[in-house]
Amino acid sequence: MSLDIQKLSSFAKEQGFIFPNSEIYDGVGGIYDYGPLGVELKRRIADLWWRAMVQMHENIVGLDAAILMHPRVWEASGHVEAFHDPLVDNKVSKKRYRVDTLIEEYAQRLEERARRETEKKARKAHLSPEALEEALHKHRDFQKAQQLKARLNEAMAKKDWAALTTLLHEEKIPCPESGSTEWTAVRQFNLMFSTQLGALSEEAQQIYLRPETAQGIFVDFPLVLKTARLKIPFGIAQIGKAFRNEIVARQFIFRMREFEQMEMQFFVRPGTEAEWYEIWKQKRLRWHRHLGLSSEYLRFKDHEHLAHYARAATDIEFAFPFGFREIEGIHSRTDYDLSRHAEYSGKKLEYYDETIGASYTPYVIETSVGLDRLVLAHLSQGYVEEMAPTAEGGQELRTVLKLHPLLAPIQVAVFPLVRKEEFIQKARTLYEELRLYFPTAYEEKDSIGRRYRRYDAKGTPFAITIDGQTLEDETVTVRFRDTLQQIRLPIGQVRSYLSEQIDIAAWLRTL
Ligand code: ATP
Repeated sequence: MSLDIQKLSSFAKEQGFIFPNSEIYDGVGGIYDYGPLGVELKRRIADLWWRAMVQMHENIVGLDAAILMHPRVWEASGHVEAFHDPLVDNKVSKKRYRVDTLIEEYAQRLEERARRETEKKARKAHLSPEALEEALHKHRDFQKAQQLKARLNEAMAKKDWAALTTLLHEEKIPCPESGSTEWTAVRQFNLMFSTQLGALSEEAQQIYLRPETAQGIFVDFPLVLKTARLKIPFGIAQIGKAFRNEIVARQFIFRMREFEQMEMQFFVRPGTEAEWYEIWKQKRLRWHRHLGLSSEYLRFKDHEHLAHYARAATDIEFAFPFGFREIEGIHSRTDYDLSRHAEYSGKKLEYYDETIGASYTPYVIETSVGLDRLVLAHLSQGYVEEMAPTAEGGQELRTVLKLHPLLAPIQVAVFPLVRKEEFIQKARTLYEELRLYFPTAYEEKDSIGRRYRRYDAKGTPFAITIDGQTLEDETVTVRFRDTLQQIRLPIGQVRSYLSEQIDIAAWLRTL
């Protein structure tokens, strides 16, 4: 993918998908607003997640827990003690970095350089693909990258910040900005935003904005269980805001300080977790694919280091313009969270299993996906620049957003070919009918070619034009965004035709 993220963010701003937050005050780093088209796209993704998870599973229910929670929650969850990232400042550029990403990206650059050089040699020497891989593994830069990553992983797993400082100095990791290798010592930084609860400072209690939505689910577990009469295995799903004071918020909406998560905790009988972990991995991958993310842009990446309580963990990664990165985490978390909350609250958080006549703390499989990262994935895969024929028979560059029709912010656009009363009247009547069923737009300004292009860039899959022939035989033109093909349909059949094309039930059936 040659698209760069700068270009995509300009496009997203121009089209009204995503704006920098508080832009008139020069913005706030890592915080973004969703514009008129962005809010539609984000809501459609969230809606299709909710339908796939809650509506389509008899044993999964929803929840909307508050962002602010009792401060003990974050002690029990381990976030107060351990939700830290290591940060470092470069003495010359004064730039601040998250050490793990700094080293990972440096290693990646080394690997890429090694690959480029090896491929160049391989072309000259006509090496086979196997010989090329072998040569790559012997390349000095490639080997150095592997060593760096191994040392980084070890230090991160032990949260050994001193080892990271040593690594930066010994390996002379350069600042990407200044090239300088003069670093401060590595310090740890808690990612939770804190605030005060209560009006008077003497009485005020320090509380946190939740850094993940999952804890609301664990804490409400007994109430949900009681009210929803669930039988194991069962799940609780939630969509909501989460906040992390990321050291460096970068790559547009990939790493934000305020973002949205869609999480589902699936509670299972201990001993069955391996089976459910596999099932959820496959189900979640299928969901992404069926919404149009291409298989070659998706992959699983298993965690190299598991938390001490975890049985298994993998990320679903997507090929963003800046490389493969996590969009969703799937974790097999044992009974860790419920047991910790039971310990800290003194309340029983167990399930009575009638089939075996015993109580136990269920094990949990978690699926946790970032809604904003999904918006970014769909925008970056959907954005295409290509040559297309003009009405005059020439060719021109068009920008088109190839979103899945179910995700398109505007699914249908209705145009009168010319601005004449009889065309406008028919087009308005059709528009008013269609908007009862689909997000529909109406436009009469500019040439038809320009209107098509405008809606191509908004991702609108179907454009309906009322033209001269409509006045004669009551048929309209339906134009398809991706293929540019056009068909004629009787005006009275447009709604039912579109209902077949944009059919949530048909989509849910494929999952
Ligand atoms: P990363 O390693 O990229 O920081 P993470 O492993 O900390 O992510 P989780 O805690 O597993 O992420 O959160 C689950 C999901 O929430 C992620 O897969 C991602 O899609 C989303 N997410 C996490 N942090 C952010 C963020 N700062 N901005 C946007 N989305 C995020």
